[in-house]
Amino acid sequence: MAKPAERIAKIMVVPDQIRNIATSAHIHHGKTAFTDNLLAAAGLMSEAAAGSLDKGMATWQHADEQERLMTVDAANVSMVHDYGDKEYLINLIDTPGHVDFGGNVTRAMRAIDGTVVLVCASEGIMPQTETVLKQALRERVKPVLFINKVDRLIKEMQYTPEQIQERFVKIITEFNQLVRGIAEKEYGEKWQANIQDGSVAFGSARDNWGMSLPYMQKKGVSMKEIMSIYDMEKEEREKWIWDNAPLFEVILDMVIKHLPSPVDAQPYRIPRIWKGELESEMGKDLISCNPKGKTAFCITRILIDLRSGREICAGRLYSGSIKEGQEVWCSMSKNKQRTQNVYMYLGVKTEAFKEVPAGNVLAVAGINVQTGETLLDNEEDTAFEELKHIFEPVISKAIEVTKVADLPKLVEVLRKTVKEDPSIKVDINEETGEVIMHGMGELHLEIVENRIKTEKGVNVKTSPPIVVYREAITKKSVQCEGKSPNKHNKLYFIVEPVDDGAKDLMKKGTLPEGRMKKKDLEMRDALKEVGWETKEADSIKAIFDGNIFMDKTRGIVQINEIMEMVLDMFEDVMKSGPLAKEPCVGVKVSLMDCKLHEDAIHRGPAQMYPAVREGIRAAIMQAGPVLFEPIQTHVIDSPADNMGDCSKLVMNKRGQLIDMNQEGATAVIKAKLPVAEMIGWSSDLRSATNGRGTSALLDQEFEKLPEELQKKIRTQIIQRKGLTEAQLGA
Ligand code: GDP
Repeated sequence: MAKPAERIAKIMVVPDQIRNIATSAHIHHGKTAFTDNLLAAAGLMSEAAAGSLDKGMATWQHADEQERLMTVDAANVSMVHDYGDKEYLINLIDTPGHVDFGGNVTRAMRAIDGTVVLVCASEGIMPQTETVLKQALRERVKPVLFINKVDRLIKEMQYTPEQIQERFVKIITEFNQLVRGIAEKEYGEKWQANIQDGSVAFGSARDNWGMSLPYMQKKGVSMKEIMSIYDMEKEEREKWIWDNAPLFEVILDMVIKHLPSPVDAQPYRIPRIWKGELESEMGKDLISCNPKGKTAFCITRILIDLRSGREICAGRLYSGSIKEGQEVWCSMSKNKQRTQNVYMYLGVKTEAFKEVPAGNVLAVAGINVQTGETLLDNEEDTAFEELKHIFEPVISKAIEVTKVADLPKLVEVLRKTVKEDPSIKVDINEETGEVIMHGMGELHLEIVENRIKTEKGVNVKTSPPIVVYREAITKKSVQCEGKSPNKHNKLYFIVEPVDDGAKDLMKKGTLPEGRMKKKDLEMRDALKEVGWETKEADSIKAIFDGNIFMDKTRGIVQINEIMEMVLDMFEDVMKSGPLAKEPCVGVKVSLMDCKLHEDAIHRGPAQMYPAVREGIRAAIMQAGPVLFEPIQTHVIDSPADNMGDCSKLVMNKRGQLIDMNQEGATAVIKAKLPVAEMIGWSSDLRSATNGRGTSALLDQEFEKLPEELQKKIRTQIIQRKGLTEAQLGA
C-alpha cells in the first residue's frame, strides 16, 4: 500500500472524494471520547498503511498518548477511508471544548461542509445541542446525528429493544424539529436525519462501537445481538466490536454517504458566505470549486505548527490552488504577502506539499494575518463575509503595565490573543497608552490576563470589569434636521426601532453586516418573508452592529457623492450614541431628504460629518432612547444537592430561572442573568456548590434595563467617562 502522503496526494485532487467535517455536542455528551476514537483509528490506519500493524485484533492502546495530547493543539485530523471502491479523504476539524465563548466554533464552521452532532442517549437533546446546530446551520453546514452512550440504556437502564427504539425515535424527532426550526426552509426539510437511510448512527464512543440501520443490515446483526455484547467478557466483546461494529467505520461511512463533498456543498454555501457577483469569473470558480480558478482561501484558525514551531494559518481553500511561494492579497490586512510552506494534515501531523488544490483544508506558513482573513489573487477580488460571532463582547477591563518598558510586550501578547480569539477585542489608545480589552465575561478576560502574566512574565494591573450597555429606542422619531456648519447643506432623518423580523435575520446572518455593494436578492427575499416591501429592502445601504441605514431620498443628483460620508457618520453615531456614548443597537435610520450645496467644495467631510451626526443624534433623542443591558443565558451544572443554593444565587442576581432539571445526581439549571450582576460569578457559584458547579454561556441578548436603574446607570457611565451633558445629545 502507498505511503500516507502519497495516498493523500492522490485524493486531494479529486474533490468528490473529500469531506470536510467537524463534531459538535453538548458538554459531556462524549465529543472527546468520540474524537479520540476516530483519531486512534486514523493512527491505526496509517500504521496499517505503513505495514507495521499486525492484522487481526487491533488494540486501541495503539493510539499513542503523544498523539492524543497533540489533538489539543491540532487544527485538523485527516483520515483516509475506503468506501465502495474508492478512497476518501476526511478532514476532521477540531472545534474547541465547551467552555468556549462561541467564536472558535463559529470559525471552524467556515472550513467545513458537514458536522456529526453527538447526543447522549440518556440525556437527550440539551441546550448546547441547539446552540451548535444554530452555529452549523447558519453557515449552511449539514448535520448528521450520532446517538452516543447507548451502553447506558443497555446496562444501567436495562431497556428492552423496544424501549431503546422509542428513545431513539424521541431523540431523532426532537433533533429534526430543531433542524426544521433553525435552518432556512429548504434545508430544514432536506436535512432531516433519518434512521432508515443511515443519516443517524448510534453506539458508544467509550466502548468503541457504532451502528446504523444500513450497517446492521449489511452485517446481519440485530439489536438483541448488540445488547448481548454486554454479557460478554471484555476481550470477547472487543473482538466482536472490531469485527462487527467498529465505530470509526460506521461513522466514516455515514460521513461519506450523507455529508456533502466540496463540489456538492459549494454551490449552495457560496451564496451564503460570499457576497460577490455569482455570475462573475470568481463567482463561477467558487461555485465549481475550480482548482484552476482564482484563489480564495479562508483562514479560520491561527496556530503553532507542532513540527516546525512556526505560526501557521489553517483554513479552507474554496477556489484556485495554493502553492509554495505564491504571492497573495490579504483582504483584511490589505497587503500583499508571500506564502512559504503549504501543508496538508496526515493524521494530526502536517506534511508539506508543493501545491494544494481547491476543496481542501490546509495550512500555510509565512503569512502574518488574523483569523477571518481571505487570501486572494488581487485586491479587486471579493473576500468572504466577515465571520460572524454569535455574541458581541459585553465586558471590558482597562489593563496597564506596571513597568512602562513592558508596554510593547503587552501590546504584542494582546495582538496575538486577538488573532487567535477574535471574540476578544482590544482598543489601544496610541496617544495615552491606555489599553482596554473587551470580552464575553469576567472569566474570559481573566484567561487572557493570566496568559499575559504567565507566558510573557509581564506584570499588569487591571481595572475592575466594566459592563458595556447599549442604547436603543422605543418609538419612531419625528423627522429631524441636521445642518452643516456653513448652513448650506441640510439632511433629514427619521429613526425607528428595527422590527423583530429583521433583527432575527441579522442574528442569523441573512442580513450581513457591512455596506451594500449591490442589490442582494437573497436578502430582499428574506426581508419580504418578514413583511418588508421590496422598495424598502432595496433602500438599505448599510448594516452596522445590529443597526440599519436606509436611503429613502428621491431624485437627489449628488446622493452618491455624499453617501460614503453619510455612512461614516451613521457608523460613528452607532458606535457611540447620544445618551451615554454607548453603542446603539436595533436602530433603523432613514435618510428622508436632503438639500445640498451644488458645489462639492462646500459639502466636504468638514461640512457633512457634523450635519449627519447632529441629524441622527437629534432623531434618536426624539425616539424615546433607553439603555439596554446585556443578559446572558447560562446552563449551570451542579450536584443535585445544591440545586436550591443555585436557584437562590440566580434570584439574588436579578436572574430568572428558565428551566430546572435533575438527571441522576446532577442538577441542570438554565437561567437568564444580567451581566452587570455576574461580576464575581465563578467564585459565587463555586461557593454555592462546594466548588463543583460549572456554568456555560448559551445565549446572549440585550434587554431594557429596568426603569428604576436607567438614570442611575446612565449617570454612572457618564461620570466614569468624564462626559458632560453638553457633549451628549440630551
Ligand atoms: P465531552 O465533554 O463531550 O468531550 O465528553 P467526554 O468525551 O469527555 O465524555 C464525558 C463523559 O462521558 C466521560 O466521563 C466519558 O467517559 C463518558 N462517556 C463518553 N462516551 C461514553 C459512552 O459512550 N458511554 C458512556 N457510558 N460514557 C461515555
